[in-house]
Amino acid sequence: MRHMGSVAIAIDGPSGAGKSTLARMTAREFGFIYVDTGALYRTVGLFALRRGVDTKDREGVAALLPEIHISMRYDESGVQRMLLGGEDVSDLIRTPEVSMAASDVSALPEVRAFLLDTQRDLAKQYNVVMDGRDIGTVVLPEAKIKIFLTASPRERAMRRWRELREEGVDTDLETVLRDMERRDRNDSSRDIAPLRPAPDAVMCDTTDLDLQGSFGLIRDIVRGRL
Ligand code: C5P
Repeated sequence: MRHMGSVAIAIDGPSGAGKSTLARMTAREFGFIYVDTGALYRTVGLFALRRGVDTKDREGVAALLPEIHISMRYDESGVQRMLLGGEDVSDLIRTPEVSMAASDVSALPEVRAFLLDTQRDLAKQYNVVMDGRDIGTVVLPEAKIKIFLTASPRERAMRRWRELREEGVDTDLETVLRDMERRDRNDSSRDIAPLRPAPDAVMCDTTDLDLQGSFGLIRDIVRGRL
């Protein structure tokens, strides 16, 4: 742990580009902490769904924020767990329904402001690999290394579909592709902190790369800059 001069690696990009897997591998390789910021938005989305609040309703969701108690912990193998009022919701936030709710609530300025300090505090305390949509542009504009990961929509949908199937979620590729394109549109077109590469981000297209190939690319970028 470092309190001064901690180093941040920001990995942004659309869903299914491989951010979380690659960020986790990068964190392990360089001894950093992996912070999955999407999980924060997912947890807010889950809370709103449970309360029966329309996840697009700005006032309704904003009114819930004072009641949400989100915390994070890392288990023995370094995996980030999300706690909502003390309950471990790490698995519950992975459903397609919560994905869409997360995308909805993430467009609300109150929600982004609510989660901003949590993210910045972590980066102050630790050397982090943080993945999300606006890490290089808004959360950590001073990050030492910024990577923008992409892949074609079909390839990303294919990866997410395989992942969901492994988790036992029964869905088909076309549905996943449709949901993903809707989420991409939401995330890229919102007024606040839209998904876009920081001017100083290194662009990495992983469409034709397997996991090891993608990781090799990122590892070389990080090594070159650390
Ligand atoms: O990365 P993940 O798919 O878990 O993120 C869920 C949703 O949270 C995204 O679709 C996006 O709308 C939102 N998000 C965001 N900013 C981040 C991370 C996630 O808006 N830094």
